[in-house]
Amino acid sequence: MQIKHNLDSIKATLSEGVALCAVSKYHPEEELIEAYNARQRIFGESHVQELVRKEAALPKDVEWHFIGHLQTNKVKYIAPFVSLIHSADSVKLIREINRQGERYGRRIPILLQLHLAQEDSKYGFTIEECWRWIESGEYKELNGIDIRGIMTMATYCDDEMQWRSEFRKAKAFYDELKGNSAFVSSYSSFDIVSMGMSHDYRVAMEEGSTMVRIGTAIFGERNYG
Ligand SMILES: *Cc1c(COP(=O)(O)O)cnc(C)c1O
Repeated sequence: MQIKHNLDSIKATLSEGVALCAVSKYHPEEELIEAYNARQRIFGESHVQELVRKEAALPKDVEWHFIGHLQTNKVKYIAPFVSLIHSADSVKLIREINRQGERYGRRIPILLQLHLAQEDSKYGFTIEECWRWIESGEYKELNGIDIRGIMTMATYCDDEMQWRSEFRKAKAFYDELKGNSAFVSSYSSFDIVSMGMSHDYRVAMEEGSTMVRIGTAIFGERNYG
């Protein structure tokens, strides 16, 4: 019952229109089912094998989101069913998602992952790289993807001002893209700003997030063993 309780408390704090992606990576199927029974339908995973296993075990009306770094050679395993890939972090990966989308006759929903954090370890496009790619016009040729918005992760630190400034930059970039009618009219809708995790989602919502990705605050600490 703890999971239901945690979900209810988080939902009570979400701003209107903000969707909740329950990050279930490293947690066993039974815990996902507990969340499902508490009416949660969006789950986020960051490993392909684990996602494929859980997709087979849970009811078919779950929306599976992929949120981790995705290797190009593994896109094919999730391409038939994934509802949203938050972590489109390179042109090479976008091309492969597109290829698999065309192969399966679908436009796979993706978010452009931005790298604004100070760590070297985070994947993603810088804002300049992203503009350069959009200006190349290549996106017009890619009919196997549906770009639905952006995703970012703030620098992992205790400094709320730091998170806030990164979220604000991401949202400003999203707003600019949203104003580019040639770009947004290529997609079914362009309306997702995926930002905020357990420790920083309140700040992310204040800065315009429309989708938060919360794991620990729902399922507890992950057991990486
Ligand atoms: C693991 C993960 C989360 C969830 O983090 P919590 O701190 O457990 O809420 C969110 N986003 C991404 C990209 C993650 O990898």
